[in-house]
Amino acid sequence: MPNHKRQRRVAFPPKMEGFKPFGIPATELTTVTLLFEELEAIRLIDYEGLMQEDAAAMMNISRPTFTRIYNKAHKTIAKAFIESKAILIRGGNYIADNYWYKCEKCKEVMVALKPLSSCRNCQSHNIVLLNSDIMPTH
Ligand SMILES: [Zn+2]
Repeated sequence: MPNHKRQRRVAFPPKMEGFKPFGIPATELTTVTLLFEELEAIRLIDYEGLMQEDAAAMMNISRPTFTRIYNKAHKTIAKAFIESKAILIRGGNYIADNYWYKCEKCKEVMVALKPLSSCRNCQSHNIVLLNSDIMPTH
């Protein structure tokens, strides 16, 4: 179903698929999901130190929408920390201006303006488009 909410611009793909807590057996591990745009909100505010107005502009969304995304990101991370859950970073309602790839062989994450056919680092053709759900096919 098409989603008519305005998409949030995300500038960089995460270099990992998520986080796992130490000391929890894999069989007992449950997960929470952190959306790409929620990680981007954390990156812009807590890592880059932007004001919320500027971060909202970077992501091409309103300030209230940004605040909602940012607060949800914190809530998700807090839940993972307190309840010893793994965090999966995936999906969401976002757009990117570029192609994000991950090499399955050397795990390199690449941002490209055009589609790639091989890894820039190890030349493997075993690369995965991370944001295939949002890129136009052309
Ligand atoms: Zn590679």
